[in-house]
Amino acid sequence: MGLLYLGTPLTWEEAKNHADHVRDHGITQFLRIWDRVKDRTGDELLWGDEVEYMVVAFDNEKKNAKLSLRQTEILKELGDIVGTLSSDASPPASVPKFHPEYGRYMLESTPGSPYTGSIADLLSVEADMHYRRALARNHLKENEIPLTLTSFPRLGTVGVFTEPHYDPKNAKSSHSLFLPEEITNPHARFPTLTSNIRSRRESKVAINLPIFEDERTPQPFVDPTIPWQRDIYPEDPEAKNGAALINHIYMDAMGFGMGCCCLQLTFQCCNVNEARRMYDALIPIGPLMLALTAASPIWRGYLADVDCRWNVIAGSVDDRTPEERGLEPLKNDRYIIPKSRYDSVDLYISSEWANKPAYNDTTVPYDEAIRNRLLGHGIDELLSKHIAHLFIRDPLVIFSETIHQDDDSSNDHFENIQSTNWQTLRFKPPPPSSSIGWRVEFRSMEVQMTDFENAAFAVFIVLLSRAILAFNLNFYVPISKVDENMQRAQKRDAVQSQKFFFRKDVVPQGYVTPAASLPSSGPSTPSEHSERSVVTQIKDRKLRNCFPTLARPPIIDDGSIEDEYEEMTIKEIFSGKGPTFPGLLGLVDAYLRTLEATPDERKQIDNYLNLVRGRANGTLQTTATWMRSFVRSHPAYKFDSAVSQEINYDLLTAVDQIERGTLRVPELLPECYGQPRLNGLHQTNQLPMC
Ligand code: ADP
Ligand code: MG
Ligand code: MG
Ligand code: MG
Ligand code: MG
Ligand code: MG
Repeated sequence: MGLLYLGTPLTWEEAKNHADHVRDHGITQFLRIWDRVKDRTGDELLWGDEVEYMVVAFDNEKKNAKLSLRQTEILKELGDIVGTLSSDASPPASVPKFHPEYGRYMLESTPGSPYTGSIADLLSVEADMHYRRALARNHLKENEIPLTLTSFPRLGTVGVFTEPHYDPKNAKSSHSLFLPEEITNPHARFPTLTSNIRSRRESKVAINLPIFEDERTPQPFVDPTIPWQRDIYPEDPEAKNGAALINHIYMDAMGFGMGCCCLQLTFQCCNVNEARRMYDALIPIGPLMLALTAASPIWRGYLADVDCRWNVIAGSVDDRTPEERGLEPLKNDRYIIPKSRYDSVDLYISSEWANKPAYNDTTVPYDEAIRNRLLGHGIDELLSKHIAHLFIRDPLVIFSETIHQDDDSSNDHFENIQSTNWQTLRFKPPPPSSSIGWRVEFRSMEVQMTDFENAAFAVFIVLLSRAILAFNLNFYVPISKVDENMQRAQKRDAVQSQKFFFRKDVVPQGYVTPAASLPSSGPSTPSEHSERSVVTQIKDRKLRNCFPTLARPPIIDDGSIEDEYEEMTIKEIFSGKGPTFPGLLGLVDAYLRTLEATPDERKQIDNYLNLVRGRANGTLQTTATWMRSFVRSHPAYKFDSAVSQEINYDLLTAVDQIERGTLRVPELLPECYGQPRLNGLHQTNQLPMC
């Protein structure tokens, strides 16, 4: 989440009067940054992950696993210990960072400093993640464990799901029927976000996930745990007046979505054009990685017919007014807006020739005046529209002390809008007065139960991002198809049950790739660089950026873009299809063969890639599939979709055992994973190695 000011937050009634001021100065701040760094080039590959945890308190007598609401104390302890670690005789390479998150039971960790492009750094990610987890674990109470769970199965159920327990009747920011005020980080930013979204929207948020219809799920399913008749807040009747759908799991508060955990990666790029190219190439990858990392099949105590968090978070911060949602004619508001401010990317932004205008094929409202201002400043059409689209949103949280800013030295107004557009990718301009370059953040993945898995997905995406640049890969499909893939990705067992739109020919025509195994078709076309130069550049045991781009071929195939893509299975997309498409893993392999990794290094990288391969081809289950079948084979499960306190306790106990390597689950993790290991700060080398 963004910066945490100490200050006085404005209510929505007050804040909306300052919306134009924030937008206006936000754009000024962006333009000042642009002027300074638009030509900046040569930044090296730096990258880093963000891992989010839920602190779970186990009550072994009552057999209950609850969310511990001690975030404030835990972060303070971790802050103190991190302080002492840095002066330790043998400090770790870098001291990890812990950050607050929306839920008062959540922690986020990032490496102490970003990783470089060295293979050694790539192979240190798992140990770094493990070190961070051990550090957190060692500063919790004996019965508390930091679990990397995407959604907490019993968040918002009737009964006790937090430690300590609170009643939802005091939920003064969300007015939720299910979540108490105390679920939310107490810093003013978070309750204010929650209540200002509700005020702007003119109702509570309403999220409905289809219930998983099991053998004995009541038909129709009308949720008996909703307090239909509660009458405390003005919004209480919304549930019975249509907000809660039958045969669905109904949720009514920001905490259900922003209280989820995920795995994110940020990459620094060589320059702005490379960042735009990588941003675009990763857009179609977003839904695929969501499907592959699916880890959230249980919501508010019920099995859902979906496996992922995405639509829940999108709904949980959907601040659009009824007019913006198209429910009422436009009168006071300016646009009909198709999506929540948390959703998949709306526009490709690369200025390369490969980005054909036809790929941006959805209706994308933008602020005309802002676009014209950016164009007038010399910024190209695509980037101007991208920013002008983000800036259709209002700033949700404004602190009275920081309304007036120095637009030369601050980017706070820009970030206020930018960082509350929560999309699958984020294009991050350099902050003012820092050494940081242009970055791209990959945001769709669900967090996995073990550091091995989280490291594996991180390593895979890092290598794919290098293959994209090294081979000038072209993944463009129309944005409408990416949106469709986003919905398919969340369906139950999407990896097995769904097909996804993907590009048939991803290697540019005529381009001879360094690894001869990659297919190429047609005669060679002129390019700015030869095959040889690419090979020389990447043969130094380092993952590089700053790869040259491909010159436009003399003859462009202007055939219909509909012929460029087709529906493929996840297995085909990852492992290849036919003689011309090597699959994402094939591309990564070709890139890897241009590095001079030692056999040991290659073996460890292959352990990670094999996890991705196993999940993609179905020989390994996704986390969501494993969790669903754990519930369905639990002796206390009644085949009625309900996940009881006891089942939840046993499930989370198993999750902890899997993470520690004491419970073997060969259907989920490769056989080689699961050597028991000790936990503790000084055993960081004792990973349950494959
Ligand atoms: P946010 O919450 O805005 O997404 P965080 O600060 O939580 O950002 O995480 C940013 C990630 O980017 C961390 O993993 C960090 O190590 C990494 N990082 C920091 N500096 C750079 C950089 N110059 N280039 C790439 N990644 C960076
Ligand atoms: Mg976070
Ligand atoms: Mg973060
Ligand atoms: Mg941050
Ligand atoms: Mg982030
Ligand atoms: Mg209105």
